[in-house]
Amino acid sequence: MVQGVGFRPFICRLAAKYGFVGEVDNRTDGVSVIVQGDLKTIDRFSNDILQNAPPASQIKSIEIKLTYFTGYDSFMIAGSKTIDKQVTEISPDIAVCQECLGDLENDPERIDYPFINCTNCGPRFTIIEGLPYDRPKTAMKSFRMCGKCNTEYNDILNRRFHAQPIACNSCGPVYSYKDSVKSLSSIKQILEEVSRRIA
Ligand SMILES: [Zn+2]
Ligand SMILES: [Zn+2]
Repeated sequence: MVQGVGFRPFICRLAAKYGFVGEVDNRTDGVSVIVQGDLKTIDRFSNDILQNAPPASQIKSIEIKLTYFTGYDSFMIAGSKTIDKQVTEISPDIAVCQECLGDLENDPERIDYPFINCTNCGPRFTIIEGLPYDRPKTAMKSFRMCGKCNTEYNDILNRRFHAQPIACNSCGPVYSYKDSVKSLSSIKQILEEVSRRIA
């Protein structure tokens, strides 16, 4: 289970640590990683993948093949490929992580933002409409990222690097409340109103 769990960002950071060029891509049957380097280092890299994979991922097997392709000048995330009918497992939704809970109080764009998420947490199964797992194949496809989200999405050192459901108060989905007399849009007010009515 390697999709929707921050696997590609993890591989990117690991490749940077080893100084590898190459690419990683999601395929319907798993994840493919191409790196250029000497065999011993690649072996260590491969062990590192097994030992330090993101907590929500599960690796059934790693298959290493020699290839003579050259010509990469950096390490990148390639476009996803549909390879065959065998489909990799899909991650379940993951409960909000501690760091996102912190952001709910401190990140100016995400104060009380109910759909907060990062590569370690957030919706997966409920938003996935097809594989490989990429934003255009999720319920988030119609929400255009704002500048800040876009910067985070593309920053390899950011916790939201390639977090497909990335969103914030200015660009993501929102809650709203309407009844015959009032309409509310602040999540605090909505929660208060709904709690009051249930009580
Ligand atoms: Zn998180
Ligand atoms: Zn945003």
